[in-house]
Amino acid sequence: MKTHARVVVIGGGVVGVSTLYHLALKGWTDVVLLERAELTAGSTWHAAGLLPLFNMSYTVGQLHKYSVDLYKRLPAETGQDVSFHVTGNLRLATCRDRMDEYQKYCGTANTIGVPFQVIGPKQVRDLWPLVELGDGAGTAKIVGALYHPDDGHIAPADLTMALRKGARSRGAEIHEQCEVTAVKRTPSGEWHLTTTKGDIAAEHVVCATGNYARQTGRLFGINVPSIPVEHQYIVYDESPELKTYRQGGGRELAVLRESDQSYYLREERMGWILGPYEAGAPARFADGVPDWFGKSLFEGDLERLLPHVEAAQRRVPSLATCGIKDIVNGPIAYTPDGSPLIGPAWGARNLWLNEGHSFGITAAGGSGWQLAEWIVEGEPGIDMMAVDPRRYGPYTSKRYVVQKNEETYRNVFVIHFPDEERPDARPAKTSPVYDKLARMGAVFGQRYGWERANWFAPPGVPAKDQWSFRRSNYFEHVGKEALRLREHVAVIDLTPFTKHEVTGPGAEAWLDGLVANKVPTKIGRIALCHALTRRGGIRSEFTITKIAEQHYYVVSAGAAERYDSDYLQQTLPRDGSVTLRNITMSRGCFVVAGPRSRDVLAKLVDAPLDNAAFPWLTGQVCEVGLATDVYLLRVNFVGALGWELHFPIEYAHHLFDSLFSAGAEFHIGMAGMRAMESLRLEKSYRMWGSDLTPDYSPYEAGLDRFVRMNKGPFIGKEALEKQLKDGVPHRFITFEVHGVTDADPLGNEPLFDGKGKLIGRATAGYYGHALRKSLGLGYVKPEFAAVGGSIEIEILGERRRATVLVDSPYDPENKELKA
Ligand SMILES: Cc1cc2nc3c(=O)[nH]c(=O)nc-3n(C[C@H](O)[C@H](O)[C@H](O)COP(=O)(O)OP(=O)(O)OC[C@H]3O[C@@H](n4cnc5c(N)ncnc54)[C@H](O)[C@@H]3O)c2cc1C
Repeated sequence: MKTHARVVVIGGGVVGVSTLYHLALKGWTDVVLLERAELTAGSTWHAAGLLPLFNMSYTVGQLHKYSVDLYKRLPAETGQDVSFHVTGNLRLATCRDRMDEYQKYCGTANTIGVPFQVIGPKQVRDLWPLVELGDGAGTAKIVGALYHPDDGHIAPADLTMALRKGARSRGAEIHEQCEVTAVKRTPSGEWHLTTTKGDIAAEHVVCATGNYARQTGRLFGINVPSIPVEHQYIVYDESPELKTYRQGGGRELAVLRESDQSYYLREERMGWILGPYEAGAPARFADGVPDWFGKSLFEGDLERLLPHVEAAQRRVPSLATCGIKDIVNGPIAYTPDGSPLIGPAWGARNLWLNEGHSFGITAAGGSGWQLAEWIVEGEPGIDMMAVDPRRYGPYTSKRYVVQKNEETYRNVFVIHFPDEERPDARPAKTSPVYDKLARMGAVFGQRYGWERANWFAPPGVPAKDQWSFRRSNYFEHVGKEALRLREHVAVIDLTPFTKHEVTGPGAEAWLDGLVANKVPTKIGRIALCHALTRRGGIRSEFTITKIAEQHYYVVSAGAAERYDSDYLQQTLPRDGSVTLRNITMSRGCFVVAGPRSRDVLAKLVDAPLDNAAFPWLTGQVCEVGLATDVYLLRVNFVGALGWELHFPIEYAHHLFDSLFSAGAEFHIGMAGMRAMESLRLEKSYRMWGSDLTPDYSPYEAGLDRFVRMNKGPFIGKEALEKQLKDGVPHRFITFEVHGVTDADPLGNEPLFDGKGKLIGRATAGYYGHALRKSLGLGYVKPEFAAVGGSIEIEILGERRRATVLVDSPYDPENKELKA
């Protein structure tokens, strides 16, 4: 084994080998893979080999699509057959909500170019003659289905071997029976790995160790939020009915998924493989995989699977006559949200993760493709936030991950409502006023481990969501919160915001080189600033306030804490001229907004709050009531007269109570996250993570006023110069959807011209309660972005007419927020 490589990949499952293959494909051939046993010895060897294209995530959908396309090409390229059976994939629906879910998914599929068909019961029977359509009594009636003609199943070990051949033919090395047992940093900043076959140094290390992810993470001093869960499938003997059908000339049946009964069924040697996702599957190996486990399996637990077996027998009666040959029960890596961890680890340079794969056979191709791009080019080619390992933070304790993974596993087949908020491992991280909000009727959701009030149920209304793809039980109450803010005054608890303090003589110059806008130079000024990728896409959004000389306060999205903090830390000058402190946990934030917000605050603040003394986009360090050192910032995300109060956390209760007593005469109330969504859409305020992503530049996003090309260099500037010369590929629009009665856009819907040609995609949407319009935000080709232009949007399978509105359709002149 060589003693130095540019990249070492740890783990020889399908994911590690795919990463190696893609690195070699990109021309990095000085790459080595180390496997503690033999290739596929982890979860890969016993996987069922299904390749579902279906995924509600825009990012994961693209990764899966790449994989399926790659796997079709691989045999010709490598000479290794991969047994890809392109059988198609049929997902049944037995209720309207399920059809809504499929239709919502179709929007995403359309925007990423995945072929699909939505079909009725008769076509289901034509495709799958052995299925029972249901009578509505013993078996639920099939109301429709989603059919993917292009996917199917593959032999995971053959796939791994094909990727291995492709990698080795380009010069990559693979060493089996070679376990990485210890890691340290060399003085030159490289990784030094101790293995059972000798030592090796590397510039980059990729961890692709499946069920071992946590213990591998420990070698590097990081807590990787992936713990496996037991997953089983049943292998059946030959089915006489299936045999008759196939011998009569019938083609291999599509993989069948009865989502409402949480199982899949596919053909296997004239018999079946039945794979349920059952309740009660335990997480395993939370403290590491024991040495004795090796290539073993767990004992099958048929009892747990029986409800699904019985449901499958009702749907495919001939299954009842087949004997069970085997039960495979193996560990399957999971993460709390069910998506893998692909990208840089945090707190260490050149350490990469490709871990936590629960659909790893399907995702291996795509994850290797994008991770190799990231390592070689310095950034991925598509928006990877949905799978970025830094979407998690230090809150992922062992118990949190165990509980969430078990919950995610049993929910694989539930209807993925867009407003779904799952209950396990909650509440964990709370704002100090959590109990007060709960007493006010708050219905909480969870983001980045934080409890956030989504809406407030008035007295007598059950404080519970009815999840839906359409307007639901909270619609009217959210509307009242939004209108209270537009007409009177409301408080929003945004304590989860990510907050950093940047100080030192080099602070301004450093920040200025990171963002496209000019960082404020005058004390008390606030600027909205975007950190870009080298390709000019939007990576982060920061609200930067100059608090004092050499002292900046930097606020960004709550869910971006580790993502932003790690980036800031990695880019910090090494000369000690800048000090960065993450102060997220030591400051809380209340937004006080609405036409009476000045009146409320005037009772608590001595400083004058009029426009001359305290203009829009300025901040002051104030005393508010008894609280000292409050950063009072005249900005907000709802487009109203208002201030954000960023206060030392110990004053949370005092400030909350003071605001409510001072505001009583002005009808003060709380507003939740859903009201904020409605309000920000009316102002066309772009949300980081959905409207602002690395896929789009600030010019495409219509944020030209936040770009200063005439200042010094900043990351992404060259890409923007090119766009200025060549023109932008997309433009951001706000649009009104006509004729909506109950299903507003929510994001990821396809946008069409009047002739049915795809011209872009929605990134967000909801109802604007003050405007009384169904609103969407999104990107279209520039020729369709003119105000007043007519476009179409497909919402839950129905085409609707939409009109492009002026940016910020509510109060376009900003009179209210500057009042
Ligand atoms: C019963 C079952 C059915 C499944 N069916 C499907 C399916 O139909 N479709 C699908 O897409 N997915 C399926 N999966 C999931 C799929 O098996 C996994 O997502 C996939 O195999 C993960 O691949 P991997 O390379 O990440 O991990 P693994 O295959 O587990 O590989 C990790 C490798 O790392 C090695 N390793 C660990 N630590 C070290 C170290 N320190 N040094 C060197 N080597 C190390 C291990 O020995 C192992 O070989 C199924 C899983 C199970 C359990």
